Amino acid sequence: MPEIRLAKTAGFCFGVRNAVEIAEKTAKEAQKTVYTYGPLIHNQSVVDHLEKIGIYSVDNLDALSAGDTVIIRAHGVGRAAYEEMEAKGLTVVDGTCPRVQMIHRIVEEQEQAGQRILIFGDPTHPEVRGIAGWCKTPPLIVSEEAELDDFALDLEDPVALVAQTTFNQYKFLKMVEKLKNMGYNKIGVFSTICHATKKHQDEAVALAEQASVMVVIGGKHSSNTRKLYELCKGLCPETYLVEDAKDPLMQEVLASIQLHDGIIGVTAGASTPDYIMQEVLGTMSENKNFEEMLNETFREVHSRDIVKGTVVQVNEAEIVFDIGYKCDGTMTKDEFGGTDEPLEQQVHVGDVIDVMVVKVGDSEVTLSRRRLLQNKANAALQDSLDNKTVLKGVVTESFDNGIVVLYEGVKVFIPASLVDVRRVADLSTLIGQEVSFRIIRLQPRRRRVLGDRRSVIAEENAAKREETLKTLEIGARVKGTVKTLTNFCAFVDLGGIDGMLHISEMGWNVVRHPNQVLKEGQEIEVLIKDMNLEKNRISLSTRFPETNPWNGVEEEFAVGTVVEGKVVRFADFGAFVELKKGVDALIHISHISRKFVKAPGDVLKIGDIVQAKVIDLNTEQKRIALSLRELEPEEPAEFIEEVIDEADLDGAEIVEEVIEEAAPVVEEAAEEAAPVEE
Ligand code: SF4
Repeated sequence: MPEIRLAKTAGFCFGVRNAVEIAEKTAKEAQKTVYTYGPLIHNQSVVDHLEKIGIYSVDNLDALSAGDTVIIRAHGVGRAAYEEMEAKGLTVVDGTCPRVQMIHRIVEEQEQAGQRILIFGDPTHPEVRGIAGWCKTPPLIVSEEAELDDFALDLEDPVALVAQTTFNQYKFLKMVEKLKNMGYNKIGVFSTICHATKKHQDEAVALAEQASVMVVIGGKHSSNTRKLYELCKGLCPETYLVEDAKDPLMQEVLASIQLHDGIIGVTAGASTPDYIMQEVLGTMSENKNFEEMLNETFREVHSRDIVKGTVVQVNEAEIVFDIGYKCDGTMTKDEFGGTDEPLEQQVHVGDVIDVMVVKVGDSEVTLSRRRLLQNKANAALQDSLDNKTVLKGVVTESFDNGIVVLYEGVKVFIPASLVDVRRVADLSTLIGQEVSFRIIRLQPRRRRVLGDRRSVIAEENAAKREETLKTLEIGARVKGTVKTLTNFCAFVDLGGIDGMLHISEMGWNVVRHPNQVLKEGQEIEVLIKDMNLEKNRISLSTRFPETNPWNGVEEEFAVGTVVEGKVVRFADFGAFVELKKGVDALIHISHISRKFVKAPGDVLKIGDIVQAKVIDLNTEQKRIALSLRELEPEEPAEFIEEVIDEADLDGAEIVEEVIEEAAPVVEEAAEEAAPVEE
């Protein structure tokens, strides 16, 4: 037995259904003839039906008089038509599809903002004429890609681009791409193509791929019905296009059904009313009525239901969802409850999102995500208040007295004193960060929701501290993060507990300020030098024994050897010479020269490379004494003069004696000086 399956999106689109319902309701309430400005939709059967209930189409407003009721059709009209109707004293009922109305608003606003309007669409189509009628300056209208070659706008002209709702999406993207390649980069693109047509076609194609027989119901002159027929025929050769149940082709349809098993697919053009589908389906199926089939195809939804919706269309003002119901659900930007960013950046076609049904109509379902989030958020906030549970949110604003955290669309204020365990100097540095907090006051009606982050941080620190303490002992090496720098030390977070790294322990070289070697936030390894947990004191060091430059100094700089080094600083009592990184030695002022030296700078300069003799070495006290003097030869003449002066003697014989006495000393000095010359 074949299964007759109706495409989910078959027949009237939302806009057409909306216009027909408005017309029927107006005729019923008016109790007199009402008019449509142009045919309400392009379906003769529907037009005939409307005439039967007193709704007639007029192409010219001259035919109407004050007090007459006129319905604007789904395609919409320009501003001038509204003004003319008002001037004539007509009662106007607006059946314009909301999606088309949205385009009217876009072109009005964009033109006011100084943009030139560009429309991709058929200039003869009533919808495009209606859109153009909302522009003060005639818009540019382009229907084919080739026309862009003659596009004569200045590249710098600001342009807003909209599309006819039924414009081909693929063609639209190609044309936008072409404009960009031509150098038009100042075009604001508004994707106003209605997804209803594409969805209609996609579902018909999906059904035709599985079906043994396909039946397309609709006017044979309706372009969208013919398009559906061609698409289905390409996939299912046994595809029939019938106008209604009385169509002679129905006999062939029934015969074909008898011959096939599997799925018999049914779809209908966008201007095919339900009752025609009902008649055709009733003829095809002896056992099932139309209602049953609809019920099998669509799910039931009720207000306050929470359902999964698939995004099928998104623009700057609203999102359209497929929720498995017979018509799509719509959600405004407000009801999405997201950020201020454009909707297109927050959701994308194909996203599946939990949504709440707010209102169910026959032709439209109103959805909200904001209310769903709010309900969930309220429950979580209450739980946090009652049970001290921790919530996470992102900091969005900062003031002198606190910060605002956004939690699921609810603004939570955290006073400055409850932001951290330490005072935060600049609260704006937290903006954009995700933070944990709990609720301490909840008065949603007064919009007073207060949070506390300090207690959460304190607890986290306590837990970390417990863990950290297990790993701490004198001599242990641990990793930490530099929290703050002062002039003489750095405080390092070891994991919920801080240690102090004194400037003198920041390596083996002389450090003048901690910021020479560390920066806040830096991860470092430290050595636990000392600890007193009762007093909460932990002393740290980065002077690791294996990197101690004094290792092996006894051999490298043994007493008596001549070494080379760089003069790095002066003191009153001598000059310091760097022998290697971390090892400095002292040349006492008395050892700078054999001559009298008043100050080290009189003989030496910072940066001088000198050779000196090691005259003392104490590795425990880290002291090396050098001498330049000992490498200088004693000057014989000077020495003789000194001896003569000291002897206070006179006469040549005496001089000879003195020379003889001095000779061995001079020789000795010359011998000592010899290695220096080498
Ligand atoms: S196709 Fe889309 S825009 Fe056009 S009437 Fe239907 S719902 Fe409205």
